[in-house]
Amino acid sequence: MKVFISTDLEGVSGVVGWRECSPEDGRHYQAARRRLTLDVNAAIEGALEGGASEILVADCHGQYLNVLYEELHPAADLVRGTRSGHRPRLIMQGLDESFDLVLLIGYHAQSRDWPGILSHTYSSVSFLAVRFNGIEVSEARIGAAIAGSFGVPVGMISGDDRICAEVESWLPGVETAVVKYAIDRYVARCIAHKKALELIKMAAKRAVQGVDEFKSFTFEPPVRLEVSVIDPSLAYKLTVIPGVRRIDKDTVAYDAEDFMKAHAAFRAICYVSYPRK
Ligand SMILES: [Zn+2]
Repeated sequence: MKVFISTDLEGVSGVVGWRECSPEDGRHYQAARRRLTLDVNAAIEGALEGGASEILVADCHGQYLNVLYEELHPAADLVRGTRSGHRPRLIMQGLDESFDLVLLIGYHAQSRDWPGILSHTYSSVSFLAVRFNGIEVSEARIGAAIAGSFGVPVGMISGDDRICAEVESWLPGVETAVVKYAIDRYVARCIAHKKALELIKMAAKRAVQGVDEFKSFTFEPPVRLEVSVIDPSLAYKLTVIPGVRRIDKDTVAYDAEDFMKAHAAFRAICYVSYPRK
């Protein structure tokens, strides 16, 4: 059984601040990278115990260079960096229809959620909201829809209580590992680290064992993408992308025949919005 693990950093055990998520912040970031790798290894151990035979991990935060490659569990390969390259499947890069299940590790609440830890959707400095077919989405939901276009379901998520509850609301039966409880956007009650790793391992194991019970998630075609941005100047700039039009001063829209075509437009919007490194 082939399992795909998509990883972010803001929802990792113990992580509560931007300084832990940015390479410029030295030792805090290095500590967070190590905890990310431990969370991922716990998921891999659980997946193996549950019956996984092949595991691919995708590093999906920032420059995509966060997982400590040399310390990753030897059962898994890793898709990593950098933002200079093109990742058409973004947080599911490397996934195709040959996979059986997706696990989301270290995910966080969507933009404007409170008190979700480090809540944002792709860019905390550029985007206010991302909507598909009128539904304001988290990165977890976008990831589930990408996987769903290949017929692959999401079986598990780890992160704070806010994102785990959100995913349960549209994906009933998903296995969750709540590693911290949000108090304010930058303050959480973090459960004991060893216990967090055990929760992740057991949730991954249950998900893999129950693979046949999960259904893939999709947005029904046609699909409309809307992105609301913080700076109206950016909304104006985004209209350089063919098919992207401004529907009010700070929101752009794109109509597509299916989710992956709408997602391709979203990739273009991200590329124009993010500074290139
Ligand atoms: Zn991230």
